[in-house]
Amino acid sequence: MADNSDAFEPVDTPTPRRKPKPEVTTIAGREMKPSTLMMGHGYDPMLSEGSLKPPIFQTSTFAFENSAAGKRHFEGITGKRPGGAEGLVYSRFNGPNQEILEDRLAIWDGAEDALAFSSGMTAIAVLMLAACNAGDVIVHSGPLYAASEGFVAKVMAKYGVTYVDFPAGATREELDAVMEKAKAQAASQGGEVQLVYLESPANPTNALVDVEAVRDARDAAFGPDMPPIAIDNTFLGPLWQRPLDHGADIVVYSLTKYVGGHSDLVAGSLAGAKRWMDPIRALRNTMGGICDPNTAWMLLRSLETVELRMQRAGENAAKVCAFLKDHPKVEGLGYLGFIDDPRQQDIYDRHCSGAGSTFSVFIKGGEAEAFRFLDSMKIAKLAVSLGGTETLASLPAAMTHLSVPDERKAQLGITDNLVRISIGIEDPDDLIADFEQALAQV
Ligand SMILES: *Cc1c(COP(=O)(O)O)cnc(C)c1O
Repeated sequence: MADNSDAFEPVDTPTPRRKPKPEVTTIAGREMKPSTLMMGHGYDPMLSEGSLKPPIFQTSTFAFENSAAGKRHFEGITGKRPGGAEGLVYSRFNGPNQEILEDRLAIWDGAEDALAFSSGMTAIAVLMLAACNAGDVIVHSGPLYAASEGFVAKVMAKYGVTYVDFPAGATREELDAVMEKAKAQAASQGGEVQLVYLESPANPTNALVDVEAVRDARDAAFGPDMPPIAIDNTFLGPLWQRPLDHGADIVVYSLTKYVGGHSDLVAGSLAGAKRWMDPIRALRNTMGGICDPNTAWMLLRSLETVELRMQRAGENAAKVCAFLKDHPKVEGLGYLGFIDDPRQQDIYDRHCSGAGSTFSVFIKGGEAEAFRFLDSMKIAKLAVSLGGTETLASLPAAMTHLSVPDERKAQLGITDNLVRISIGIEDPDDLIADFEQALAQV
């Protein structure tokens, strides 16, 4: 491969892609909405025997039309030529189902580019490993999803990366101090602040992060080489929160939750500008971690109904919470539709267009009463996870957060009577009847 003279020359016979060219995204001069684009964007049936839906491309590798095309594709894969691969090469790098999925995911968040992964945690791990070198610092909001928090504190620590965390809801002044602390910490380790990582709303407290204030604090603290702001948008995205509009650079998802939406797959994604996605894609090419073609296909099906499902789940949650609000056996609710803190309400009003369908309900009493309530539910299933078509209930203190030290639990407000609910798309009156009879057993 000594001769690179044709590196920038177009190949005469490019590998057929599944994508229509040109891609149509407007109709009669108006931009099509994501819910319209989910049915066909990024896929041309005529390139696949007229198959209305994309076939599942169950293959490990792709044939090149000729040697020059193979070379050109590898130049894209290896970064010799900017812009990524122009053709399909090998299924650890890309594939038609994954590429269509990535094109459609990018639409929801208004992102230039997106990357699909085999799980939310793989997306988060590859993001952090791509961003940091030994000595660098990650600034993050807290609490994070437990595995994300563990990845920063335990795994990144093995490679000499440290962190500075701050509570969700921190003000601009507090954030300025956090950025200064992180800069000083990085300087003392011979590194740089390479990533600002947020999760909003936080799990299981539903505390919101002021993304605009984080952006302003980041902009003020750093020069042109500023670290990107990534945000885990699993709880409200893609429907009710669009963080790129509020100053975030990278949107992170566990697609396992609302986007997949049927509790039948595990996947994750990142979306943002190409300049952020390119180095992450390069590491994913090396490490693996792209989602498989079958999962990508399932997600294409899920994306066709994500708006309908989330809307219905959100409406159901509002009805259930209105019922629970004044119930004598309920001590309180952690639901974004009923915020009692003015600062949190202000963040909600600026960043969110819906309260979601995942919330906490505090049952009067302690663990015994919460167990009684959970064991009495008939429609709601007792399981962790969220965002599926079915209603799920769990007790974080005894389940997802069992290993969190007691002081940290107290600090986060994770009490023995905090029941976590993810409302599905069942009939709302059936759900209310289920909550009513279960509370009667307490
Ligand atoms: C589930 C979840 C993750 C991890 O995603 P997986 O798909 O399970 O790897 C990350 N962040 C949040 C907020 C989650 O709910």
